[in-house]
Amino acid sequence: MMKYLIDWRAYDVKFVEVVLHDNEACYGVIQQSDQSIKIAVTQPGSQQREALLHEILHAIEVHYRLDFKEGEIHLLSVGLMQLFAEKNKPIREWLCNSKSL
Ligand SMILES: [Zn+2]
Repeated sequence: MMKYLIDWRAYDVKFVEVVLHDNEACYGVIQQSDQSIKIAVTQPGSQQREALLHEILHAIEVHYRLDFKEGEIHLLSVGLMQLFAEKNKPIREWLCNSKSL
């Protein structure tokens, strides 16, 4: 199981068959009550990654008391996924250089 850490808070990231939000199937969901993020494994891998980033942005939103609209979270996750794309490998690797963190 993966964990997403933000300051003192840790979210368990779980990959499951069915993800429900308000009794409707969805790609991913974050639950503050048990600090978990669930991602549906039934979607393609690239969509799973974007769904995880989307839910992480929701965690950041809550943590920093931001007030994003759902559409803004979606656009941020789409934009950040482009940052992580192969064509941006040099900047991605520089940003993720563990020596600089
Ligand atoms: Zn959302």
